[in-house]
Amino acid sequence: MSPIKASNTPIDPTDSNQVEQKIRQELDLSKDVTTIRRNAPAAILYEDALHERNTIISSTGALVAYSGEKTGRSPRDKRIVEEETSKDDIWWGPVNKPCSERTWSINRERAADYLRTRDHLYIVDAFAGWDPEYRIKVRVVCARAYHALFMTNMLIRPTQEELAEFGEPDFTVWNAGQFPANFHTQDMSSKTTIEINFKAMEMVILGTEYAGEMKKGIFTVMFYLMPVHHNILTLHSSANQGIRNGDVTLFFGLSGTGKTTLSADPHRLLIGDDEHCWSDKGVFNIEGGCYAKCINLSHEKEPEIFEAIKYGSILENVIYDPKTRVVHYDDSTLTENTRCAYPIEFIPSAKIPCLADTHPSNIILLTCDASGVLPPVSKLTPEQVMYHFISGYTSKMAGTEQGVTEPEPTFSSCFGQPFLALHPIRYATMLAKKISKHSANAWLINTGWTGSSYVSGGKRCPLKYTRAILDSIHDGSLAKQEFETLPVFNLQVPTNVNNVPKELLNPAKNWAQGEAKYNAAVSNLASLFVENFKIYQDKATPEVLAAAPRI
Ligand code: ATP
Ligand code: MN
Repeated sequence: MSPIKASNTPIDPTDSNQVEQKIRQELDLSKDVTTIRRNAPAAILYEDALHERNTIISSTGALVAYSGEKTGRSPRDKRIVEEETSKDDIWWGPVNKPCSERTWSINRERAADYLRTRDHLYIVDAFAGWDPEYRIKVRVVCARAYHALFMTNMLIRPTQEELAEFGEPDFTVWNAGQFPANFHTQDMSSKTTIEINFKAMEMVILGTEYAGEMKKGIFTVMFYLMPVHHNILTLHSSANQGIRNGDVTLFFGLSGTGKTTLSADPHRLLIGDDEHCWSDKGVFNIEGGCYAKCINLSHEKEPEIFEAIKYGSILENVIYDPKTRVVHYDDSTLTENTRCAYPIEFIPSAKIPCLADTHPSNIILLTCDASGVLPPVSKLTPEQVMYHFISGYTSKMAGTEQGVTEPEPTFSSCFGQPFLALHPIRYATMLAKKISKHSANAWLINTGWTGSSYVSGGKRCPLKYTRAILDSIHDGSLAKQEFETLPVFNLQVPTNVNNVPKELLNPAKNWAQGEAKYNAAVSNLASLFVENFKIYQDKATPEVLAAAPRI
């Protein structure tokens, strides 16, 4: 096989055949062996996907597909190519491990070799970023129809005219995930690699078929491009907007804390469930779809998401009844991280285009605290926002990452450490400026355990109470309540919230195992915070440092 050719042949970008022709040249595909489908509709992708083993249609019309061995992201196998255009900006370390340009060439060629052997290849040309001024053109080349439908749903679908004028992509994803990397290759630690090259503006995936790697790869690209080139802040958050007064709320939070669940709110317009940018104009979504967790999903608790699972959506790694094709959402046999990817317009309250020319008025930091120490809601000072944003505390719940089966405390800066391209303080500084300029209110919401820990048999804060808390933030009533101070963390806890039982509000007063046990639990969590923050000590301002818990 010859190497991928850098083609100089001029092509007519309005002609899909010519785009296919170009991919053929680049991959050196023989004419008759492979069919290439560009931006195929869901119906065709369904038809192709159904030829794959196990793939079926669910009773509600969703495509049920399986990602094989990997059912979550593989953060340890992510690599950034070390090259001169980006190397001084990248935050090198455990999140962004370097690989050489030589390793990149070997893996890219390995991906190309694999793709060359396929009967069908898929191209998805689409956008990332809803603001036309800042959006990037993304091309995905992959060999599974399921992956093509996934990215069709998750990126912003071009109109026919936009597709005709698409031209050269700004960024290309080569997904050969069915095929392993060779772990004898330098810089490789396993058969899996997810490699980003900011000079070539390309990404290669080998050795994992978890579709979420593609979407989170593009997210990392935005975490690099937006701040470096446009001074725009990239956020691991969901966002929605009040129907009547247009107020925007951002929900930051790590995986499983409730970004998707809580942003789907029938009383508010959904801007997006996971990835946003905050520019000088306002907030825009990066994606054209949502990627919702499905474990224990019920119509009663999450009707919007439940009903979005229909023709055109993809259900991943779920168990279904072989006779009726009804999906068992409470079955975690394959993984806790069962997911559904659907176009955002499947949520009835979605705001299309997914942006707001308004700056956020409420910033919500979501955490899922399995220690039960943090209150269901507290009001944050600007310094506390920065402290908690840099800390990024949650309990990692089973699921989204390979190998996590029990909740464990974790700190992930900017509530999105695995996706950061630059040092966390760069994003935190941008956020601090924006919050003070636009004087947003900020809240810490614990959607996890409260009043008793997970291990001592406590319960997760019922979703209806978290929703009631959000309602009272949005109708302005919460800000007017009286507040008392939670010890050690110095959080302002309301003494009353409409439609929420009073005894739930302050864990310090209502700890199931008594005050002494609470004090032990609170100091334990506080020391984890203090220990974690040591790495940021020399870069944070004295005011932010003063917002740390006091043991
Ligand atoms: P990811 O970044 O992986 O997409 P996410 O922040 O979007 O994660 P969700 O998909 O919203 O997380 O997952 C939250 C899960 O927790 C859902 O399964 C939801 O049903 C469940 N849950 C239980 N109690 C609550 C609560 N009080 N608030 C929010 N979610 C809750
Ligand atoms: Mn989500």
